[in-house]
Amino acid sequence: MSNKTLAILKPDCVEKNLIGEVILKITGAGFKIKALKMVRLSEASSGGFYEVHKERPFYKNLVEYMTSGACVPIALEKENAVADFRKLIGATDPSKADEGTIRKLFADSIERNIVHGSDSDENAAKEIAHFFSRKELLDNFSE
Ligand code: GDP
Repeated sequence: MSNKTLAILKPDCVEKNLIGEVILKITGAGFKIKALKMVRLSEASSGGFYEVHKERPFYKNLVEYMTSGACVPIALEKENAVADFRKLIGATDPSKADEGTIRKLFADSIERNIVHGSDSDENAAKEIAHFFSRKELLDNFSE
């Protein structure tokens, strides 16, 4: 079990001016912020990040949505980070998410669902490396 996960506050979160509120939910649940930046993803970066969904019918829209505005990747640390973070954000489709979860509270649709969370320790490590250099994480992240 690893203690790291990657969150992304997606473009709808930034557009709706919810960065602060969502971060409060995250830190309030015991996650420590280890690195954070605001970026506008290129099509190549967004497409690469969601490569696993390449054959899915929603892939093109997903890549477009993720490049439509700024987003905020955040490297997080907590015991049992991946599972605990996915519990905190709730189901992909906000209408099916549990009460009190970030997606239930703030998301509009299965696509525009406010926040990303890694789905495994292996992907968390890859996704953190997608956004943050070793230097940005060095001395800042226990290995
Ligand atoms: P997650 O791990 O809960 O983010 O869900 P997935 O990895 O299955 O999907 C990645 C992202 O693609 C989701 O967070 C949504 O933004 C989007 N997505 C997933 N399923 C659908 C779908 O059925 N329709 C559309 N339009 N978007 C979807």
